Amino acid sequence: MAEPAAPKKKTDIGPPHYEQFLHPVVKKNYGKWKYHEYLKPGVLVHVAESGDKIFSVRAGSPRLISVDTIRLFADLAEKYCGGHLRFTSRNNVEFMTDQQKNIDPLIKDLNAKGYPVGGTNNSISNIIHTQGWVHCHSAATDVSGVVKAMMDELYEYFVEAKLPHKLKLAAACCLNMCGAVHCSDIAILGIHRRPPKINDATVANVCEIPTTVSSCPTAAIRPTTVNGKASVQIDEDRCMFCANCFTVCPAMPIADPLNDGISIWVGGKVSNARTEPMFTKLAVPFIPNNPPRWPEVTDVVKNIVKVYASDAHKYERLGEWIDRIGWPKFFSMTGLEFTKYHIDDFKHAGETYKRSTHIKFQ
Ligand code: SF4
Ligand code: SF4
Repeated sequence: MAEPAAPKKKTDIGPPHYEQFLHPVVKKNYGKWKYHEYLKPGVLVHVAESGDKIFSVRAGSPRLISVDTIRLFADLAEKYCGGHLRFTSRNNVEFMTDQQKNIDPLIKDLNAKGYPVGGTNNSISNIIHTQGWVHCHSAATDVSGVVKAMMDELYEYFVEAKLPHKLKLAAACCLNMCGAVHCSDIAILGIHRRPPKINDATVANVCEIPTTVSSCPTAAIRPTTVNGKASVQIDEDRCMFCANCFTVCPAMPIADPLNDGISIWVGGKVSNARTEPMFTKLAVPFIPNNPPRWPEVTDVVKNIVKVYASDAHKYERLGEWIDRIGWPKFFSMTGLEFTKYHIDDFKHAGETYKRSTHIKFQ
């Protein structure tokens, strides 16, 4: 691969060119890497054609990061890595150094501050999540809380590489799925189960009706008039509870304490090694929100991880394992119930999903 072109101009738009932040060893050997090796949980070495080496030490981050935490990470990067760190797409923080002697003192300092090192090779990487109740109005659950509870329960699988293969978990707080939920091995997805409630008295005052109508991906919203005032109506059969309309029209709140909760999906992956990338499929249709520790959700996820760990072949991703044993066996081995909600009857699904009735029994 050619070296990245130097930035030609400076603007006040967008992030600065990444090249200026590269570790000098990465910059010198850009595109000329020979191989990489796993040294121990959380530690990798990349070796360049020139013989140069760069070591990375991966720690789990809290995902929602305070200024104090950022300062701590920056201080450790200054102390051991010439100021170089990066965040991975799963919110791990990776410290990069060309000094092998710095690895163990760095890990010791991270552990002393409560940050586990791991997430590489056949382990669970940091669990990615979207914004949840903290920032986003569409959320059906507080994913940061769910993920904190899960990370605590699955800690051993982060700091040790004892799974058949890597296992990626993701959580999103609504079906817009800002996280990598559709293509992770296990996905926790916040769901609404009722259409938005329309406040007819205020729609015309606070919402732009054409924008509200066009915000709906299933064309479920129509303009109407109620008591002489412009408003909207929803064809509830078409609604898939996505909350897009609430994003543009605050007079259509969708949050519902009884009917919002969590669904669990399994078997997705982005990688195309050995088998094609896969989408997740439904495992558990609904678990009520139970903050602050969501024990029912963590129990289900832990159980799936344990059954996968005990039965999958080495280097078999979770979706590949299910493909091999078949979905009926997945449900019987995990003890999860197969319900009518597992049969996709959404009216547009046929355009994008296979509708074959074939199921593999073994
Ligand atoms: Fe907001 Fe949904 Fe994205 Fe969560 S997944 S941040 S609720 S749009
Ligand atoms: Fe349409 Fe989504 Fe609003 Fe339902 S929640 S009416 S599908 S935009």
